[in-house]
Amino acid sequence: MLDWLNEDQRALRDMAISFAQKEVEPLANQIDIEERTPDSLIAKAAEFGLFGLYTPPEYGGSGADIVSVCLVVEEIAKASPAFAGALTVQMVLCPKTVEILGTEEQKQRLLPLSASGERLMAYSQSEPAGAANVASHLTKLEPDGDGWRIDGSKLFCTQSVAKSYLVMCKTRNHEGQVGYGCILVEQEAEGFEVLPYEHKLGWRGTNTGPISLNNVRIENDGILGDVLTGGFSHRAANHANVLAHAATSLGCAQGMFDKTLEYVKERQLYGKGMYELQPLSYWLAEAHAKLAACRALLYSNARAFDNDAMEPAMGSVCKAYIGDTAFEICSKLLQMWGGSGIMDSTGVNRYMRDAKAKCIAEGASEMHYTIIANQLLHGVPSLARPADSGAEK
Ligand SMILES: Cc1cc2nc3c(=O)[nH]c(=O)nc-3n(C[C@H](O)[C@H](O)[C@H](O)COP(=O)(O)OP(=O)(O)OC[C@H]3O[C@@H](n4cnc5c(N)ncnc54)[C@H](O)[C@@H]3O)c2cc1C
Repeated sequence: MLDWLNEDQRALRDMAISFAQKEVEPLANQIDIEERTPDSLIAKAAEFGLFGLYTPPEYGGSGADIVSVCLVVEEIAKASPAFAGALTVQMVLCPKTVEILGTEEQKQRLLPLSASGERLMAYSQSEPAGAANVASHLTKLEPDGDGWRIDGSKLFCTQSVAKSYLVMCKTRNHEGQVGYGCILVEQEAEGFEVLPYEHKLGWRGTNTGPISLNNVRIENDGILGDVLTGGFSHRAANHANVLAHAATSLGCAQGMFDKTLEYVKERQLYGKGMYELQPLSYWLAEAHAKLAACRALLYSNARAFDNDAMEPAMGSVCKAYIGDTAFEICSKLLQMWGGSGIMDSTGVNRYMRDAKAKCIAEGASEMHYTIIANQLLHGVPSLARPADSGAEK
């Protein structure tokens, strides 16, 4: 499969395999248990160029395509889906949003620092009223003299060691018109606070938690794109990110599969190899078939995306279908480990927990199925039906 990959893509995949095995795998259980990615690994990821992989060379990155991004993220997720999860935000979603919305000055200021890992970004949209229910969001940007002030709070922001925040919020311009914008808020700004975050089930390589914005002053150079539409007008960044996200789900399930296959070959039950129990060997075969189907789905769409030819809603198809399938696979394969799989020491139950987190982060599967249904029924790949207003992500 993937015999169409070019030389650069193959070389990058080989480097990612070696990076994942040498640098990520030995720390994967520690990341899950301690609920943070060690600084040493963040530094090695920066050195390897991971944060700038999808950033154009003129802004300090290596300008890889989304196929390459998916290959790299998949390999890292095989070792640690939790670490790969935060990576997609910092490698794809945030820099691409800045690339699409930013002025030349903003791109020169933000992207090289993000690509080098010196100043990583976070993406913050979710609020207690519902992540995509933007009509009910309370965080607002209002004019303040010759600048602006933002006030409110956000939830579930995947931050890791981010220092710059892209905050999606309601906006009102100096003429009184209202919209939904994308605002850059720096961690050092007066009134900005990272609030305590909770322990979570999966994706423990990063902290995901609330931020508070208490009347934070924003200058004009902190507005990304049009103040009234920036929050909606970076769809290509969201589409690229859901593909990268699907790659983390695929890597997660493949990592679980690889470890389970090794285990099953060794495990003796009733004096025979465990694989001789027919239902269990069928589970492996079924998981293998599903992984092959998911891989074909993902990479054909990633290739289409790189050629500006991805069909509407196919990003959502990849995100929801591969995410849900990965969870099913991890859950079933965990069963084959018996009690040992439930114990943390075997280092496999984290795959099932990470796979579940991935079915919710970056839009719950059902949200993506709504987008697909709206494309099928109304010809619009959107969370909102044409007749609705303000409910679009
Ligand atoms: C690990 C993790 C990391 C995250 N990181 C970030 C981040 O960095 N930035 C950020 O802004 N957010 C982030 N989120 C939030 C994430 O995007 C939301 O949790 C997700 O979109 C679901 O929204 P919600 O939690 O508000 O659930 P709700 O909106 O309350 O929805 C609850 C459930 O209702 C169903 N549902 C909701 N809307 C629809 C719909 N339109 N159609 C069909 N069914 C629907 C779904 O089953 C959904 O799970 C993260 C979440 C997790 C778990």
